[in-house]
Amino acid sequence: MFSFPESDVQRLAALIAENEFFALVCHTSPDGDAMGSTLGLADWLRQQGKTAVVVVPDMYPDFLSWLPGAQETVRADKYPDKAALTIAAADVVLCMDFNTPSRTNDMEQPIRQAKGHRVLIDHHLDPEAGFCELTFSQPDASSTCELVYTLIEALHGEAHLSKQAAVCLYCGMMTDTGAFTFNSNRPDIFYIISRLLEHGIDKDDIYRRVFYNYSEGRLRMMGYALYEKMRLFPEKKASLITLTRAEMKRFHFNKGDTEGFVNLPLQIRNVRFSAFLREDTEKDEIHASFRSVGTFPCNRFATTYWGGGGHLNAAGGRFTGTLDEAILYFEKCLAEFK
Ligand code: MN
Repeated sequence: MFSFPESDVQRLAALIAENEFFALVCHTSPDGDAMGSTLGLADWLRQQGKTAVVVVPDMYPDFLSWLPGAQETVRADKYPDKAALTIAAADVVLCMDFNTPSRTNDMEQPIRQAKGHRVLIDHHLDPEAGFCELTFSQPDASSTCELVYTLIEALHGEAHLSKQAAVCLYCGMMTDTGAFTFNSNRPDIFYIISRLLEHGIDKDDIYRRVFYNYSEGRLRMMGYALYEKMRLFPEKKASLITLTRAEMKRFHFNKGDTEGFVNLPLQIRNVRFSAFLREDTEKDEIHASFRSVGTFPCNRFATTYWGGGGHLNAAGGRFTGTLDEAILYFEKCLAEFK
């Protein structure tokens, strides 16, 4: 298990013991780990008689709406005043699954100006220094949910872990590792899963709820994208999928419906790098996502050409212009990238 300095764990224990009202905030476009870590930790705090409110910057995808507590979160894009007041009123603001407050969109200022204690629990690289008085950052962790469980054990708080919270934590570990197909070789992960199973989770049911929960439109759009819109660049061991706004509309696009498309070409033997370009549904710009297996540095490709960033095997960026221009630009980048 990851170990954090004993003094930090003690300070966290004291913050929890001495305070009543906790606000938990995650990053924009919340994924399974952002939702799982905030909802799981909030439930655990409530089991100890604390008040805990989860603030999400914007809507979570449909396939996470069944998570215990998801319906009670405060949507900052819909209720900005309520969200900001929650953060301002909190004794402790828990910053979950992001490394800098700008990842929370409009909640950045409320978080920075919060009078309460700020604590960061996260697994992204390079946490912003100094914005939290306590930082539990571990970039080698599979997920923030893994860190939440690790901290609960360090605080000897397992007795307060409900089945609902265990479900949330498992969900985040599962989604951030592609159902334990990447970034998941550390034995601790499976120790934690065994503990969560002891708490009564049905991991097969959680898998089905998340991954077998497509709309008809999403599955058909996936088929269309693979059949009609995927190009291979064999000499570069690369692939590109593109989608226009009109194409997405044809398949009744809902937010999150193209999630995971970029990973699909990596199932082809010899494809080591996959790119997905799509028109934004609101703004006039192109979304770029990159994934790789092995050593191809998606983050360097994204920072060099696409004004973005990320990890070695997963990164993203943006392009201003038409989709056709973005495709030509991609071909040029791919040709010259070393
Ligand atoms: Mn995460």
